[in-house]
Amino acid sequence: MPGFELFGDAERKEVNEVLESGILMRYGFDHLRGGRWKARELEAEICRVFGSQYAQLTSSGTAALSTAMAAMGIGSGDEVIMPTFTFVASFETIIAAGAIPVLADVDDSLCLDPQAVEKAITPRTKAIMPVHMCGSMAQMDALLDICKRHKILLLEDACQAIGGSFQGKKLGAIGDGGTFSFDFVKTITCGEGGVFMTNNEEYHTRADQYTDHGHDHIGSDRGAETHPFIGYNFRISELHAAVGLGQIRKLDQILAIQRKNNAVIKNALAAIPELSFRRIPDPEGDNASFLSFFLPTEEQARSVAKALSANGIGGNFYWYDNNWHYIRKWQHLQEAQSMFPLQPAVAQYLRQTDYSAFKQSDGIMGRAISSLINLSWTEEQAQDRAVKIAETIKKVLA
Ligand SMILES: *Cc1c(COP(=O)(O)O)cnc(C)c1O
Repeated sequence: MPGFELFGDAERKEVNEVLESGILMRYGFDHLRGGRWKARELEAEICRVFGSQYAQLTSSGTAALSTAMAAMGIGSGDEVIMPTFTFVASFETIIAAGAIPVLADVDDSLCLDPQAVEKAITPRTKAIMPVHMCGSMAQMDALLDICKRHKILLLEDACQAIGGSFQGKKLGAIGDGGTFSFDFVKTITCGEGGVFMTNNEEYHTRADQYTDHGHDHIGSDRGAETHPFIGYNFRISELHAAVGLGQIRKLDQILAIQRKNNAVIKNALAAIPELSFRRIPDPEGDNASFLSFFLPTEEQARSVAKALSANGIGGNFYWYDNNWHYIRKWQHLQEAQSMFPLQPAVAQYLRQTDYSAFKQSDGIMGRAISSLINLSWTEEQAQDRAVKIAETIKKVLA
């Protein structure tokens, strides 16, 4: 997953160009910047690489999701359907928009179950937010079909699946809107950063304005610009965008290494008949940043996770117990622990929800382990790790 493993001269060169001009801001100062526009250049590169018509860089992936909410008109009283297994930014940004985060089960793809989504739809549903977790994708065909039939928006959180695709289309550029995160542990990084992508010109114009206090960016005198809407500051800096430019040119290389190393681990684990692998709706489109697999029972999965870590084999995630990526660990959400008064409808939904009702998700996440794929492994290290993981699992199952 982490592009930082390949940080080097290309990134330093881009950053140095910004340091030489001293113009660290992405807007204005036209006569001082010597023709350097790193954020603009990165946006153009993102459009080209991912096949999106428009791209708006932001200060983080979380900011990109908040920008998406604003640009797509998601707000007070709206419901957004999101998965029980995701990163906390999903509900953070839905709640920040004043909308209601409606939880729906995941299936063995580790992403939203289309049937659970269908059941969660109400007259107030404004959008579905599939999250392409751990490098692989949700069932986009079924979700797109649901959105079309019910006339609701599809916002893809592709923060963990940069470079992945579904039936030839890049994840994050399939729905009405999509986001990436470029934080330090993502497939490519800016240090901190994110992007909102869309093919809708109006959404893009609004995103461009929203991320910069509502500035319309018309003309060349920033002080004289008008502000059609209330906005915010979610701007990326030129320094961060420069890092991203170095990284995006390495994306193909990163994906190739991930896929090669992932296959080494997978080959070793495929010889264990009790194991099954995460369902990948389009295997060719896996970004391969993780290899996720299932043990037959929750007890066995827990024991395997413990044994792997006891044997010093890091990077294996048992989300069900250890981590705040799953609903079970979102105590603050379950108790609606907000620092400020929430929208009444949001507070009511959070307090009324039965968080033990997601049995299908529990049944899947309780048996799942995701193994991180590094870029820096030598062939020998990958093989060695594969053997160690396989042996540890066999011992637990014996
Ligand atoms: C990392 C991540 C985010 C948030 O990105 P930041 O840049 O860290 O704010 C959102 N969604 C998912 C699925 C993520 O993994």
